[in-house]
Amino acid sequence: MPWFKRVDKGIHTPTEEKKETPDGLWYKCPECKTVTSMAEHRKNLNTCVKCDYHDRIGSKEYFAILFDNNKFTELDENLTSGDPLNFVDTKPYPQRIAATQKNTGLKDAVRTAYGKINGQEITIACMDFAFIGGSMGSVVGEKIARAIDHARKTRTPFLMISKSGGARMMEAGFSLMQMAKTSAKLALLSEEGLPYISLLTDPTTGGVTASFAMLGDFNIAEPGALIGFAGPRVIKETIGRDLPKGFQSAEFVLEHGFLDFIVDRKELKQRLTDLLAMVMPTEEENGNKKQVRKTTEKVS
Ligand SMILES: [Zn+2]
Repeated sequence: MPWFKRVDKGIHTPTEEKKETPDGLWYKCPECKTVTSMAEHRKNLNTCVKCDYHDRIGSKEYFAILFDNNKFTELDENLTSGDPLNFVDTKPYPQRIAATQKNTGLKDAVRTAYGKINGQEITIACMDFAFIGGSMGSVVGEKIARAIDHARKTRTPFLMISKSGGARMMEAGFSLMQMAKTSAKLALLSEEGLPYISLLTDPTTGGVTASFAMLGDFNIAEPGALIGFAGPRVIKETIGRDLPKGFQSAEFVLEHGFLDFIVDRKELKQRLTDLLAMVMPTEEENGNKKQVRKTTEKVS
């Protein structure tokens, strides 16, 4: 069978002619090292086909998963950060913002939108970790506050998808004020009897955990998400003791009573739909609330 034999001996391909596997075609799970095609990985909503490891995704992906037919209207799309403190670290803050906007195609670390989830109207705010570690500055706080106002005005439930390293240090005190502002807005939402669901994804830490992320009527999380306030190293150094296994994972946090349930991303849309069907005020209640709102507005 001559065609199974190599006729020419010593065939060498120069390095520059060797074909590399193009980047982004394959996905290797960092947890179990299973390799799948990127297309398969995406089809599985960026979770590992074998071990269910939840890969980090951004607002674009979450909106596509949740909104019916990926149809939604974005709120405050063009709100961008100022530089209240004239902050300079390795580069001036405005330069850092401009560079990050260019790299990520995002305006800041959160996007807010409204649309329908299985027919139910909803307002969603979703953070993007790719934008300066999902840090919460004035724009993040303001956009969330306005999204809550939108939910109140349209009497729709509010879903917050958190993914953040905490406050944005380049805005220092201004970042911290966002914790109070968003919490106050959520209190108004609650007074009006509208549900707030907070989804904590990997990672949710710092000032975000310490404010809106933990204030949900339901606080839910994705499997394996890191959830905490300070990082494990800081805590270990402070208390001078080793930390328990699995510390700050969603599962650990659930076991210690800080979460209501953990939801697989592939079931997220349905679980949210079921939950909202149970807690959304009826048309009648909604009508009464609208009436109350009108009267109070007149008074003020
Ligand atoms: Zn895996």
